Amino acid sequence: MFALTNVMRDYPWGSPTALAELLGTTPSGGPEAELWMGAHPDSPSTALTPDGPVPLDALIAAHPEAMLGAPVRAAFGDRLPFLAKLLAAGKALSLQVHPTLERARERYAAEEAAGVPRDARQRNYKDGNHKPEMLFALTDFQALSGFRPRAEAANLFRVVEAAIATMGADAGAGTGTAAGADATELLARVLASLTSGGTEAAAIREAFEALIGGGEAAGRLVERAASALAGAAGGDLPAPLRTVIELQEQYPGDPGVLLSLLLNRISLTPGQAVYLPAGNIHAYLSGLGVEVMASSDNVLRGGLTGKHVDVPELLATVDFHPAAVPYVPTRTTSLGQQVWEPPFGEFALQRVEVSAGSEPVPLVQNGPLLVLAVSGAVLLDSPRGDLVLARGESVFVPAVENPVMVHPHTDAAGRTAVVFAVTVAS
Ligand SMILES: [Zn+2]
Repeated sequence: MFALTNVMRDYPWGSPTALAELLGTTPSGGPEAELWMGAHPDSPSTALTPDGPVPLDALIAAHPEAMLGAPVRAAFGDRLPFLAKLLAAGKALSLQVHPTLERARERYAAEEAAGVPRDARQRNYKDGNHKPEMLFALTDFQALSGFRPRAEAANLFRVVEAAIATMGADAGAGTGTAAGADATELLARVLASLTSGGTEAAAIREAFEALIGGGEAAGRLVERAASALAGAAGGDLPAPLRTVIELQEQYPGDPGVLLSLLLNRISLTPGQAVYLPAGNIHAYLSGLGVEVMASSDNVLRGGLTGKHVDVPELLATVDFHPAAVPYVPTRTTSLGQQVWEPPFGEFALQRVEVSAGSEPVPLVQNGPLLVLAVSGAVLLDSPRGDLVLARGESVFVPAVENPVMVHPHTDAAGRTAVVFAVTVAS
């Protein structure tokens, strides 16, 4: 097995302290958003080998059979199928959606053929892979995921409408300006779309398009909605409407602030997980989690961002059908592993907890395995060697090296150790 060093991404939404507190490291002073563990070519982990440090993607490419095993090579080719991240959202991430495998392949090839530079602002596809993902909450975790039924969305927009009307009446004639009128018109259009006769998906799409294409009127509507809601009921508002006020503070005037009302508002407690299939529009709002995904960085943004928003590409990718929140159930095995396995082939997440005196627990391993300690220290033991993994440390285990047993580490007397591990789905 190979000890890893991982790349920290400093996206501006990252919490400056949460990851350092979890891992026992010194905060950088700036945002620390995502710690990438895996072999994505944009930020591969570095594996410590007897010959020195080697990027994990290069190590796997040099020894695919030993690293991945034949079944994984046959199913996913000669690369690590999954990417794992520790994610710490200090504020909301962009509203986003990920493409299907078919679309990612086709559009990546098209952008490559057109010579769009990989780091260009308007570049959409970083690789030819899909990016189904799962988020496991380490702390309370707030998010938006998938569309709510249009009747629910309409009810929320009616509250917004009433709050704006109340604010207007309180403020007197000053709000009846032409600039205000276009915002009022836009809100009426959104409500008309949601209550029109078409299908659920058509109605939601129409409301979505009106807001995302609303230009300055949308910006004004967002500002009015947030200040009217803040003035109307303050802390008594339900979570989706409080979210409008919070998002306006973070991304003033961004259409994503009101698009949030079209989406399911979810609150995860520690230990809960959700999965996000292709086409699911989502945004993480706050909290600390383990995120696992197919090894891809293909993101189409729809708001809550200063980055490029390609509206036509977004509309072609989003699934506008309302959907229940896709929670991933916890499966506890007789061997002591807790496993979360969404309906994707690329990955499954497991959590193993051991304390002094407890029996060793084997890791579920289908081909390659990534292991991260988030608390205490463990001894990982396989027929080919062993290694002590302390809080904040991670390791890559090749397919040929199995089974791996997790023992409590003798130095960690009395302390509970927790490791997370990612392997290919069974
Ligand atoms: Zn995502």
